[in-house]
Amino acid sequence: MPAHSLRHLTSPVTDAAQRVGSTPPAPARLALAGATLPLVGSARVYVCGITPYDVTHLGHAATFVWADLLASVLDGTGVDVATCRNVTDVDDVLLEAAARRGSHFDELAVTQEAVFDRSMRELRVATPAHQPRARHYIDAVVQLAAVLLDRGAAYEREGTVWFRGQDSAARSGLDRDRALGLSAAYGDAPDDPAKDDPFDVAVWRPSSDQQPAWPSPWGWGRPGWHAECAAMALAVHGPSVDVLVGGDDLVFPHHAYQVAMAEAASGVTPFARAQLHVGEVRVDGAKMAKSTGNLVLVDDLLQHVSAAALRLHLLHRRYDEPWDFDAASLDDAQQLLEALYAAAARPGSGDPAAAVEPLRADLDVPSAVAAALDLGGEAARRLITQLRLG
Ligand code: ZN
Repeated sequence: MPAHSLRHLTSPVTDAAQRVGSTPPAPARLALAGATLPLVGSARVYVCGITPYDVTHLGHAATFVWADLLASVLDGTGVDVATCRNVTDVDDVLLEAAARRGSHFDELAVTQEAVFDRSMRELRVATPAHQPRARHYIDAVVQLAAVLLDRGAAYEREGTVWFRGQDSAARSGLDRDRALGLSAAYGDAPDDPAKDDPFDVAVWRPSSDQQPAWPSPWGWGRPGWHAECAAMALAVHGPSVDVLVGGDDLVFPHHAYQVAMAEAASGVTPFARAQLHVGEVRVDGAKMAKSTGNLVLVDDLLQHVSAAALRLHLLHRRYDEPWDFDAASLDDAQQLLEALYAAAARPGSGDPAAAVEPLRADLDVPSAVAAALDLGGEAARRLITQLRLG
């Protein structure tokens, strides 16, 4: 068939023919946390998920709603987004919580996961493409440990495989005392005399009789937390991701070590093209924590406010700034939501894409909402869809 007759076909070939000589589309890209990410075809997001031992509080919800918005905005640029959000179902805090309740850690994890999933559905968080559970990736952790040993990034001592972490601490930009304090707070035991350096962390470690254990070349044991996420990310997404997401309490030590282990194992740097760390949600200036008894639970809030209003309340701010929760401000979120719906219902003006454009510049929701309220019509409808408030 002569080339000129292609234009008479009604098929994707026709579309391809029409593309010849046409204006190039706007390049897909997202500016995020100081990085600009040109996007071609697909994007991989890794979200550090829950340790399922407690019901979903507003701090958890904020992280996962922002991760969901990131996925929605990436999707809006026309690329295929694959989000991986893990479940840390092998972890000492889960074991301790189960022991306190007198239940098996498996049972506690499954029950709490169900509660978490329900809260996420209510908040319109799309189900991630991948939801790996740590216990299903034990072999990947063993492989990771073997590779790190082979590359000289780890050493084995009495059944523990230690990752050499001195550089990770140095690269974090934290002063030494602060880094040591955080390592201790997150269970990395900087004072353990068994290791060469206080900043070395366990990739694999022996289990006691009361702790779950799997076979490994170094004896029966279980993975370290940072190694679990490194192994799951490598197994699901390969040697790098586009965006690594978590609460800002994960910056150090968790993400620092996850990244360092992945890079040391794969040789691919950077492991993450960008990192999205979500600001802490506080109550009266204090971090929300079970130990301080100040948890604000998503289930409780949804008795008083619509899920869409709560979602908008979480998103209508800078993602990386800590903020104080104040129940009275939920009414403001409800009013703002209703104003957005009213804007969507009226005839619009201006460029309909103008309201979603700020989202591609560091997820600037307040500017996007202001533009949608100003332009109305299709611009507001597009934003409502992108924020999943419809
Ligand atoms: Zn993680």
